[in-house]
Amino acid sequence: MSLTTDGRAPGPVRFFLACDRSGCEELIMFDMVIADPPPDREKDLFGYLLHEATHAAPHIKELGWIFIEGGEGYWCPKCATPASRRPPTDPAG
Ligand SMILES: [Zn+2]
Repeated sequence: MSLTTDGRAPGPVRFFLACDRSGCEELIMFDMVIADPPPDREKDLFGYLLHEATHAAPHIKELGWIFIEGGEGYWCPKCATPASRRPPTDPAG
């Protein structure tokens, strides 16, 4: 999955999110301040590794990106919306 981070909690973390749909090159970046430290690495490895991603998940959803179950990763709003439901393309845009 194409969510990568620069920095670790607790503190400011920069996220880079790339669309995983083949042929799409959408890439966004956002910053979050995560106050909670991650769980102990020895006791909860997945919790430790996914700590930042877990905090970012609601924000990613708000941006319109969706997480595709089954290993495909993240899709940008364009790819997540079926063509038939997309608003007509603005010719000026
Ligand atoms: Zn996309």
